[in-house]
Amino acid sequence: MTNRIAVIGAGLAGLAAASELRRLRHDVTVYEARDRVGGRVWSETIAAAGGLHVIERGAEFVLNGYSTLRGYCAAHELALIDTGMSYYIRKPADRPGVTTNDMATLGRKAADAAAAGDGPRSVADVLDEIGVGGPAREALEARIEMSTAVRTDQVTAEETLEHVASFEPGPSWRISGGNQELPNAMARELGDRIRLGSAVQAVLQTGGQVIVTADNHSAVFDYAVIALPFGVLTDPRAVSIDLPEWKTHAMSRVVQGHAAKLHVALSSVPQTSAVMSVSDRFWTWTARAADGGISPVINCFGGELDHLRSLGIDSDGSAWESKVRALRSDLDISDDAAVLTAWPWDHLSRGAYTAHAPGFSVADATALAAPHGRLYFAGEYIDLEYTGLMEGALRSGNRAARAIDQDLNGKAAA
Ligand code: FAD
Repeated sequence: MTNRIAVIGAGLAGLAAASELRRLRHDVTVYEARDRVGGRVWSETIAAAGGLHVIERGAEFVLNGYSTLRGYCAAHELALIDTGMSYYIRKPADRPGVTTNDMATLGRKAADAAAAGDGPRSVADVLDEIGVGGPAREALEARIEMSTAVRTDQVTAEETLEHVASFEPGPSWRISGGNQELPNAMARELGDRIRLGSAVQAVLQTGGQVIVTADNHSAVFDYAVIALPFGVLTDPRAVSIDLPEWKTHAMSRVVQGHAAKLHVALSSVPQTSAVMSVSDRFWTWTARAADGGISPVINCFGGELDHLRSLGIDSDGSAWESKVRALRSDLDISDDAAVLTAWPWDHLSRGAYTAHAPGFSVADATALAAPHGRLYFAGEYIDLEYTGLMEGALRSGNRAARAIDQDLNGKAAA
């Protein structure tokens, strides 16, 4: 008998799960509330300097170690382009006495202190411990809060300093034609197994089956992969899924990060650059495009909820845009309307990506990834090594699919 498997969410995690399940010859149905696949990977174009240029309204940078993403790109014949700037290095414009070298040195010192210490500590605890203050600390804190999209007192020191907020220069890539090309290619293979515009309201386990209700219509499955964003899964108003206490306990040690992006057209072609505002917790960059030329667009990323509110992002992007113009007076910024993407207020993501609170343990990571009966879980918040990132989402989806396959093989052998 064929087993029917539902995948809830067609972001990279859900698509990786569905692709792997299809490859393993299972009958899969993907529910996606949006009218597009990709979730927090969302590429569009903006008109600037007489042409159309790709912008990433969500995930942008392909970073070191993205072996799974690279594997999918190769399988779908998608090329990666070097952006010509480094995601890791940003000039702190409003702290002129602090260099990017100062930040790298201090970052390394903090990472070493975090690795050497014992017990749960936040990034703020470690910065206190190494006795750093003044503009260098402010710049370092801003850099970390932008990357994690939460405050330094909310995140665990060790993995944060080692991974997310690395300060070593390194290249950063994007998928040629836009990161959205990857989910689109994965979706093409899945064809009509994906139901766009299908918002799931409830997932219920009963009598060895899983009942998925979307748009007031219920369907019965043998398994489900829950590939919803952490912010959606943890909001009972968004979707009803009965989760066991051991899982919600682990989830309570995950911190939801919040971020927004702003894109503004330039009237002329700039140099590549990466400049941040320490006080306002946003950074701006100009980067190479697929044709090798530099795109005439200024890309801006703001992180951490209180700072996003101070920038007025909960109403519109105009206050932020004014600050961008002031920070980047070196650029020829056009008068065209800016494109704002405010992820905290997107009800299908309810945040940007996650990080781990001090005290988060390997046992918590195991609980996040573990199935609950016939419900399996995938999403950026599950992967321990690449938490919050595209690579983590893909890996988690792959793993959930293989775990279901193993469970089925075990049942068949019994
Ligand atoms: P999602 O992509 O959110 O997919 C979940 C899907 O579930 C969505 O499509 C959603 O519409 C759908 N859904 C929600 N509710 C329902 C429902 N009720 N029924 C059915 N479907 C539903 N990562 C990097 O690697 N590099 C970066 O530079 C980077 N920058 C980022 C910048 C920003 C501003 C943001 C927001 C994210 C960034 N990320 C980056 C993180 C990356 O986007 C995510 O880690 C990854 O895309 C998450 O994939 P996912 O499948 O777990 O979740």
